[in-house]
Amino acid sequence: MIELKPDIWNKFICPECKSSNVEVKDVAFPGIHILADCRCCNCNTLFYSDFPTGHALFYPVSFNKTTLNLYAADNINWFYKPLINSYSEKNNLPVEVHKKEYKKTDKIILLNCIDYLYGHVLLKLFNAQEYLERYNDFGLVVIIPRQFEWLVPDGVSEIWSVDIKLWQAKDWFVALDSFIKNELKRFSRVYLGLAFSHPEPGKIIIEKFTGTKPFDIQEFGKRSPTITFIYREDRLWTSGRISSYLAERVNQIPSAKLPRKILIFRQNKKIIKTFRLLKRMLPQANLNVVGLGTTSNFPFFINDLRKKNVDVEVEKHWCKTYSQSHLVIGIHGSNMLLPTALAAGFVELLPQSREGNILQDIARPVSNRMDFFLSRFCDEHISPSGLATMAASIIKTFPEAYIRYHSSFLEHKIYEDIGKWKTDVK
Ligand SMILES: [Zn+2]
Repeated sequence: MIELKPDIWNKFICPECKSSNVEVKDVAFPGIHILADCRCCNCNTLFYSDFPTGHALFYPVSFNKTTLNLYAADNINWFYKPLINSYSEKNNLPVEVHKKEYKKTDKIILLNCIDYLYGHVLLKLFNAQEYLERYNDFGLVVIIPRQFEWLVPDGVSEIWSVDIKLWQAKDWFVALDSFIKNELKRFSRVYLGLAFSHPEPGKIIIEKFTGTKPFDIQEFGKRSPTITFIYREDRLWTSGRISSYLAERVNQIPSAKLPRKILIFRQNKKIIKTFRLLKRMLPQANLNVVGLGTTSNFPFFINDLRKKNVDVEVEKHWCKTYSQSHLVIGIHGSNMLLPTALAAGFVELLPQSREGNILQDIARPVSNRMDFFLSRFCDEHISPSGLATMAASIIKTFPEAYIRYHSSFLEHKIYEDIGKWKTDVK
């Protein structure tokens, strides 16, 4: 944790002269970043520097307040560009912050979950569990975009939910900065939570966030196979490099409506073909499509749970569907965190360009071979027949894998128990 009050953390280095003789004059809370407002006592440079929390823990950004010279690693323009742009054009509009107080406390940990990417907000929020469990003499204050408020776990002392759309979160909100500064006056001790951008999924009890219990693996063989495709219209399942390139391009060109529609139609045909093959391989299977976007219709044997817009009730319903799914299938980056946290297993289509980001959008805890068995990645251009074969094989061979790999079958019991285990699995 990083102390903000009463003794402010100060290990900042002047980006211009590299002096560590730096005065922190104030703290800015404009949105995603939490910044120290600094003056170099050596060269008098005025600069902002990230406190090491969230993504800034690994990629801290500093910038000169006068020249706007930026000091950051080259490969993180997605992180620093919005900061420098938003500082240049601050958002002075009023921002509604809904404050919910559950516990009175004098010392708090501040967990800032503001981000413009859905997965980033969720991953930062997952840190709440650690603070609630380990630091229960502190109150936990969660700052979060309002649409995520329903996912904040019980036990926090306060929620400050910010009424902004996700895409707006890149802004420098003057009103939010004032609100937070004013609220912090109430507390004598304030620490910043580190808000790891990728907390360990094995430690997260997802039910505390979603209110939905994950799939019980003991039930795997007892229920009709349920497979759910996690659908998006801006992360498309394409057939080859050319269509991948086109899909990326049309996302950047809002006017390219027709090419986008054609690519979506082609994706939907592939989903239908996959599910048709799966229905042949697993006649009892329940097949769902869940996600944002409602282009084209799916045939009767597919439960179409897609929506044009999402609200809390829709999200809760989707979570229930994930938790009843033997497998969720989706493309990397299509909000796979909650589906993979709640379903028994997953297949993720991983683009070559995202190989280095593998696991970042997966919240399924993996600690043994049984977990590995249920966690699959495949090529982004896999054919419907390849995908259906992979999914059906997981379902069909699960009983054998369960006996071989599940920890309860790897205890050195007496021989007579073995007959009972076999009966249990069947
Ligand atoms: Zn300096």
